[in-house]
Amino acid sequence: MRYALALALLALLVSAGGAGAQERRMKIFISADMEGVAGVVTGEQLGPAGFEYQRFREFMTQEVLAACEGAFAAGATEIVVADAHGNGQNLLIEKLPKSVTVVRAWPRPLMMMQGLDETFDGAIFLGYHTGTTNMRGVRAHTISSARLTDVQLNGRSVPEAGINAAIAGHFGVPVIMVSGDDAAVAETQALLGDVVGATVKWAYGFHSARTLTPEAAQELIRSKAAAAVARVKEFKPYKVQTPVRLDIRFKNYRPAEVLSYLPIVERTDAHAVRFQGRDMVEVSKFIEFVIYYEPGLEP
Ligand SMILES: [Zn+2]
Repeated sequence: MRYALALALLALLVSAGGAGAQERRMKIFISADMEGVAGVVTGEQLGPAGFEYQRFREFMTQEVLAACEGAFAAGATEIVVADAHGNGQNLLIEKLPKSVTVVRAWPRPLMMMQGLDETFDGAIFLGYHTGTTNMRGVRAHTISSARLTDVQLNGRSVPEAGINAAIAGHFGVPVIMVSGDDAAVAETQALLGDVVGATVKWAYGFHSARTLTPEAAQELIRSKAAAAVARVKEFKPYKVQTPVRLDIRFKNYRPAEVLSYLPIVERTDAHAVRFQGRDMVEVSKFIEFVIYYEPGLEP
């Protein structure tokens, strides 16, 4: 009830701030990962084989719900959520409100940003984590912890937040908020500048953190999402220069070797390939292909 009251007051403040603003459509996109959800520290929380997964997909869902509540209270009229972790089937969709639609499972051309287009006003990254070149952060990795050791756009190493912000930027959509551990929030803000941060845990290492409880994290995310959406017009899209040069470094040798058979791919050293995309949509499709293609795909 406490939240309900706070949200009602917030909604009142927001609507009082802009006469007629509640008439306008405002679309918010949420890309929901899981490593940066409060309490997540190891693989035990992150996939169906882990002993805590069923509880933590509930916590992930509640963090998404909290962000939706905050966004709606601040004027959002429509929200698309991309389930962007693991199998892409983590969120308990029956727990989300009717004005939300959910993007599920893989592969998909825009990866963690599938569902986004130029009609959105802002994007929120929930449960995010640091990139694989960062020395800090719970479960620091970029796209595939097992397979990739670096992803660069135009010569700069980027975490998932950077790749996804650049995809959003292609559509002119700014990233307005990020949640995760302290290292992920700091990394995202260092790259993108003005982005509202919700720190739900403090990393001690790859598999350890001091964390907020789910209830406290949800309260924080609800209020930060409302604050971000209330000033959605102030954020700037993150645009990378086109054409986009993508460099991918693999942990292993053979992916670079075999990908270099393709005339569109340049092998830059034993473990790395380069691809030049016309824009971030081409780059996203190329990354998704590299991660998902194998000739045994069925059906
Ligand atoms: Zn994830």
